[in-house]
Amino acid sequence: MSNEAYGGKCFCGAVEIRVTGEPAAMGYCHCSSCRSWSAGPVNAFSLWPPEAVQVVKGAEDIAAYQKTANSIRKWCRRCGGHLLTEHPAWKLIDVYAATIPGLPFKAGVHVNYQETVLHLHDGLPKMKDLPREMGGSGATLPQ
Ligand SMILES: [Zn+2]
Ligand SMILES: [Zn+2]
Repeated sequence: MSNEAYGGKCFCGAVEIRVTGEPAAMGYCHCSSCRSWSAGPVNAFSLWPPEAVQVVKGAEDIAAYQKTANSIRKWCRRCGGHLLTEHPAWKLIDVYAATIPGLPFKAGVHVNYQETVLHLHDGLPKMKDLPREMGGSGATLPQ
């Protein structure tokens, strides 16, 4: 396991975070919640164990919103820039790939592809919803 660290910050820079090591998974989520929250067609995610994610600066400026049981979405209250989503049931934190630009992002999977509005023909597995170990069907869809 690598001990490489990657820095990230919100849109204005008041909040800085750091992730250390290697993500448990990387990919793209096509769900309508990610789309609505991010205002983008897909969310590029990287999932980390909580102990790998540290707030370096500006913890007092972090706000949170929890719409559903397994997603606590966090952003900077000064600029509105998004930072991460905590998934307590999975014991993982999604640090958006865009938040940590230095991370060598290598997607392994697309999830919640049944909700997609942006079809991507990249040859990666397209999961209908989520892997079984994360509470989904584990089913895949054609490209
Ligand atoms: Zn900010
Ligand atoms: Zn999503």
